[in-house]
Amino acid sequence: MKIDIHTHITYLKFPEFRKYFKYEDFTAKTLLECMDEEGIDKSVILPISNPENVDIYGVTGNLETIEECRKHPDRFIPFCNIDPRSGLNTPKANLSDLMKIYKDLGCRGIGEICANIPITDKRYKNLFYHAALEKMPLLFHFSGKRFGTYGAYDHLHLPGLEECLKEFPETIFIGHSAAFWGEMAADFKYKERDGYPKTPVKKKGRLWELLDKYPNLYADLSAGSGWNAITRDIENGVAFLTRFQKKIMFGTDRFGSRKDGLGKKIISMYDTLLQDGKITKDVYDNITYKNFNRVIMGESK
Ligand SMILES: [Zn+2]
Repeated sequence: MKIDIHTHITYLKFPEFRKYFKYEDFTAKTLLECMDEEGIDKSVILPISNPENVDIYGVTGNLETIEECRKHPDRFIPFCNIDPRSGLNTPKANLSDLMKIYKDLGCRGIGEICANIPITDKRYKNLFYHAALEKMPLLFHFSGKRFGTYGAYDHLHLPGLEECLKEFPETIFIGHSAAFWGEMAADFKYKERDGYPKTPVKKKGRLWELLDKYPNLYADLSAGSGWNAITRDIENGVAFLTRFQKKIMFGTDRFGSRKDGLGKKIISMYDTLLQDGKITKDVYDNITYKNFNRVIMGESK
């Protein structure tokens, strides 16, 4: 069994939109074909609707995502994307009301969170407060930059995330992206926050500390950033997967293309580690589906 916690689709129902869309199509149908090819049973589809990156995936917002997921309820699980600026751009917005609507429509979490404002902003904190009330896990793209990018902004070594983990112990935070995964190593530098550091991990970084200390922090091991965090120093990667086997969730985050081969690359990494006896079947199962079923679907085992 494999469940992918991080996918996006393009929604190209209207040919007028297709005319100007600059990325390759990656529709729900294409995603399903990839899943069949790669042996993935289910995928979470994350809507993209923050203004920072709304152009990227063909404007696949909440309702479009729900519509596509409903065609294959046995294969797709929708999340909803709730911008912290929703509800008149105030930290007092009652975001629970919005969450209730999307929960009723089948959404199991919130993301991909991409608003490029500091994670400690009062509007983000309001989102975290309501997410705890509604028991909606949050999947983040973290950013090391303000402006000219997308993702929740935090300083190097993620002090803002720690503040929020402490302040909202009932809120489930799932981290992802280069600015997050670079924290695998203690020598992570400001200028590397957009990239994939290739150096061996000499000293354990902030992720080890935060994942150890906060039961409400999880990690989405998708994309080039997740793949790099494990493979840059495979011995360290194996130790990390084993230690945090109850906190890591498998994902792909293909960037609007099946040709980038990212899904296959990520899956074959886990398969090879299992075959070579570097990780146990328990570790493999926890990461590829059991953690998802427990944390996102609320199953007890
Ligand atoms: Zn993504």
